[in-house]
Order: sequence, then structure tokens, then C-alpha cells
Amino acid sequence: MSSKNWRTATRLLHDAPNRTEFGETSEAIFLTSGFVYDSAEQAAATFTGDVEHFQYSRFGNPTVDTLQERLALLEGADACIATSTGMGAVSSALLAHVKTGERVVASRAIFGSCYWIVTSLLPRYDIETELVDGDDYAAWEKALSHPTAAVLIESPSNPMLDVLDIRRIADLAHKAGALLMVDNVFASPLGQHPLKLGADVVLYSCTKHIDGQGRVLGGAGLGSETWIKETLQPFTRNTGNALSPFNAWVLLKGLETLQLRTKAMAANAATVADALAALPGVVQVRYPGRADHPQAEIARQQMNDGGSLVAFEVEHGQAGAFACLNAFDLVAISNNLGDARTLATHPATTTHMRVSAEERAKLGITAGVIRLSVGLEDAADLIADLTRGVEAARQA
Ligand SMILES: *Cc1c(COP(=O)(O)O)cnc(C)c1O
Repeated sequence: MSSKNWRTATRLLHDAPNRTEFGETSEAIFLTSGFVYDSAEQAAATFTGDVEHFQYSRFGNPTVDTLQERLALLEGADACIATSTGMGAVSSALLAHVKTGERVVASRAIFGSCYWIVTSLLPRYDIETELVDGDDYAAWEKALSHPTAAVLIESPSNPMLDVLDIRRIADLAHKAGALLMVDNVFASPLGQHPLKLGADVVLYSCTKHIDGQGRVLGGAGLGSETWIKETLQPFTRNTGNALSPFNAWVLLKGLETLQLRTKAMAANAATVADALAALPGVVQVRYPGRADHPQAEIARQQMNDGGSLVAFEVEHGQAGAFACLNAFDLVAISNNLGDARTLATHPATTTHMRVSAEERAKLGITAGVIRLSVGLEDAADLIADLTRGVEAARQA
């Protein structure tokens, strides 16, 4: 690890150096499943833990280690475990931490697969789960008035970009004896620092902004040395939730430009959100960086920028939303996000189609809502394309 007092842009390139004797500029990819030992004694000592030596890439790999160390330094966490996907990080964090008979509380507006884990998977193991509406703090107090093992939240949330007061929920979670786990994907590692706001565990889908160029899946869980080493790591190692060294290398390349990309994307998103709000035919715009966002003040306090996601609603419900998406020339229809390319999705019929209509209504996901992940194109080109889409919705 680096002891130097570098700033973020420098750290994204130079933290946790791992250069081999060949002096390569870019990190080497250790695309190997296993490792060899000099002697039987060394193998035995590796297994007892007396000697530090790589054993097997499910347990540890030099390229994956570099990514883990760089992410931990960036997040200000003691330690990090990289996982095969973002869902790998979320599922392992919960299953490693919570036992049968214990309780999990989550915010209602969470990523589709996180929702499935909380509402369908955990109850199979007799883990009691409860969902709370993001900004209903009386409900948070009530839900966390009973002993709880873990609290899982997402802020800003998918897809309506609700902003939750992380510090306030952290205090309530800790009083209930729970660890607060924050899915920080929508904010990105540079946009928000949950550990500084009292969270205990931060979870990422590295597939999103960290790769950010639509290439690989990956995930990460970060937290205290004790929790990572004693709770998460034994679980991921033994259940096989390992990141490929190749994907780790791609993600390291992604980190090199993460700050440049997320800054440019947030600036584009702010411009696009304002342009959408001014367009006739746009029913509502949700962007955490706008003054009319319902939790604008909390967003201003806990986020470094408004992020790269914008939700907006067009006229004429699903027919309008489909006409809008189909009229785009530049913006691609895709449910991925955090990409260099601008992507749009219709949550009600894709990412949230399995969520009941009643639950969708509670989340504010109406039939006319489109979620936009703003990329690196020229904002003027995006605005021209969005204007075309919104006009098509009006005609629908
Ligand atoms: C994408 C995403 C995940 C899941 O990550 P994968 O890499 O697709 O498994 C979890 N949470 C949020 C908020 C996401 O956007």
C-alpha cells in the first residue's frame, strides 16, 4: 500500500503498486488458476499461514489483490474483497453476515436483484426482512427499534434517484446493533463516501462506473479489517465468489480514468437534466443535483456531485415512453448504467417488471418514467436526441 499523501487522481493510477522484475508500465495480468511452491515445506507453511504465498486464485491472485488494495485506499476502507459481480458482493455480504432467526431491514427502492435477495432469498433461511420507504424516518425508527443484524440501503436509489440520509440511518442501524451496508453504485466511489457518513460496509458493482466502458462484470465489498477477514473473505473464498484476474485488470484500467469520466458524466447529466426540465412534454425530472429534487439538501451535503443518472417522465405513459426510446438515434436502449455511452431504459417493463404494480406505484415508477445513464457524448448531441424522443412521446 502507498504511504504517500497523494490526491485522488494520482492514487487512481499509482496506489498499491505491484510491478514485477520486468518493469512493465501497466500492471501485469496474472491469468493463472494456481501457484507453485519451492518445496513441500513451503506449501505446508503456506497452508498453516506461517508463510505468505499465493495458493489458488479462488483464494487470492496478484492482479485481483492490486485492484482490492487500490479500491480500499480509494474508499478509505481497511480492506476490500473483489467479487465476480456486483450481486456477488451484495449476496455474499448479507449471507456471510446474517444468521437464521436474525433480521434485515432494507430501503424499499433497491436494485432488482437486491430486492429479490431481501424479499425472496433471505426469508427461505428464516431471516426476517422488512422494507422501509427511503425518506420515512419515523418508519426507519420503528423498523430499527428491534435488534437487527444488517441494514441495506441504496442512495441515490434505482431508478427514481431518491436520496437517503446515510448518517441518520447509520445512527439508527447502530442503535439496533446492525451493520449498515450501502450499495454505492449510483453515486460511484468518487461521488459519495458512505464510510465517512457512518456506514460499515460499502458495496459496488464494478461493472458500472469503475469499468464504465461496457466490458466486464465485477463487484467489491469494503469494510473493516475484522469484518472483511473474518466474515466476508471466508465466505467468498469457500463459496467461489471470485473475480477473474482478467476482469480485475480491465477494472484497474477503468480506475485510471474514473475521475475524468465521472466528472464529465456528472457535468453532462446536470446539463441534460436542466434541458429536459425545460422541454414541453416532460412531466417530471429527477436529478440529485437539481434544486427541485425532493431531497436536494441531503444530496448537497453527502454527495460530491449529482451523479450520472437522471430519471424523467414523458407524457402518455408506456406508449409515450416506448415512442421516446424508439425515436432515439444516439441514446441506446440498454439497462446497463455508468457507461461512457448514454443508455436509457424503461424500468416498468425491464429492470422493475417483476416488482408488483402496487410496489412500483409506491416507488414512483410510473409507466412514463425513463431512466437515463448519461455518458461522455457532447451534451448538445444528447439534448437534440432527447428532444426528438420527448416530442415523439407527445405524439404517441
Ligand atoms: C448493477 C447493480 C448491481 C448489481 O451489479 P452486477 O455487477 O450487475 O451484478 C447492484 N446494485 C446496483 C445499484 C446496480 O446498479
